[in-house]
Amino acid sequence: MFGLIGHSSSFEEARHKARTLGYDDYADGDLDMWCSAPPQLLETIQVTSPTGATIQGSYIDSCFVPEMLSRFKTARRKVLNAMELAQKSGIDITALGGFTSIIFENFKLLQFQQIRSTMLEWSRFTTGNTHTAWVICRQVETNAPLVGIELNRAKVAVVGATGDIGSAVCRWLQQHTGVAELLLVARQALPLLDLQGELGGGRILELAPALAEADVVVWVASLPQTLEIDAARLPKPCLMIDGGYPKNLDTKVAGNGVHVLKGGIVEFWQDIGWQMMEVAEMANPQRQLFACFAEAMLLDFENWHTNFSWGRNNITLANMEKIGKASVRHGFQALGLTPAQLGSLATV
Ligand code: NDP
Repeated sequence: MFGLIGHSSSFEEARHKARTLGYDDYADGDLDMWCSAPPQLLETIQVTSPTGATIQGSYIDSCFVPEMLSRFKTARRKVLNAMELAQKSGIDITALGGFTSIIFENFKLLQFQQIRSTMLEWSRFTTGNTHTAWVICRQVETNAPLVGIELNRAKVAVVGATGDIGSAVCRWLQQHTGVAELLLVARQALPLLDLQGELGGGRILELAPALAEADVVVWVASLPQTLEIDAARLPKPCLMIDGGYPKNLDTKVAGNGVHVLKGGIVEFWQDIGWQMMEVAEMANPQRQLFACFAEAMLLDFENWHTNFSWGRNNITLANMEKIGKASVRHGFQALGLTPAQLGSLATV
């Protein structure tokens, strides 16, 4: 059995979701009320792979919203309580979706293994980041040529290069894909130098100069919603893989030779029959989902009940290939530019 721990992308969205699901008390509640709300197991579903294998899983809403990020104890309690609920529900492998894996790492939750009478078993959880990184790399490899970008001549900027997903993407694009040059963007200098040393290459740049040079930009950092991008200064064509939260680059820069693709999203081969992705603003919510969630499904399909993605900057190319093969085998496909987006190329 697989599990998915998620959250709404804003307090406003959480209240809307609560109203839709008939939780009127929550829909009317203020942020303080939400801070003390326990996690909710909202949905149980059955999923069948093209191989014929069928698995069952549950979606748990942690009742966390990004507005709680500054409240350390609340954020910690939300994630740990959701993990406890997953374990007590007998779920074998659960993905920590969205901010929950970042809270787990950044707030060092490994030291809080005992939740009331439950000793959390880490082997039951995965961040899902190996699959997310693999999907983002496939999105680069498949879509860049479609918009006229030759990767072996392209400069690829990775914004969030030193992160768990970003560092894996850098390794893959350099060693597996063979892009012409990696532009490494993050705020802290030391991890950037370490990454550059590990890769044996890549150029460290601030965001603005990197954007002015990059043919492809992979966004794998949570950036402020107020971030301004001067579309006029971007090279054309330019492919942007929007892998962070919130995924709002299409409203900022798409058009006139700048192609924006939601990053780290996969499409399943058939309808899943669930409600949860309706509120995540997927174009096809019955089939599309976050790659980190899909990783829990893949681990369950394969009976790999282990914390496949765990800790920070441990993702290997071998594990990316392994989860990538499982992804294809079980009917997932990385989201690509739509015929409508590609059709508009003719007029660019
Ligand atoms: P990490 O915390 O491991 O890495 C974050 C990276 O972003 C670091 O390199 C950090 O470096 C950098 N960063 C943070 N803020 C900025 C900034 N303002 N400007 C430039 N760089 C910045 O996160 P993960 O790798 O786990 O996740 C990365 C993103 O992917 C997150 O937004 C997460 O929500 C999203 N995600 C998406 C998924 C999906 O769509 N399927 C699944 C899982 C995660 P520094 O601090 O030095 O700046």
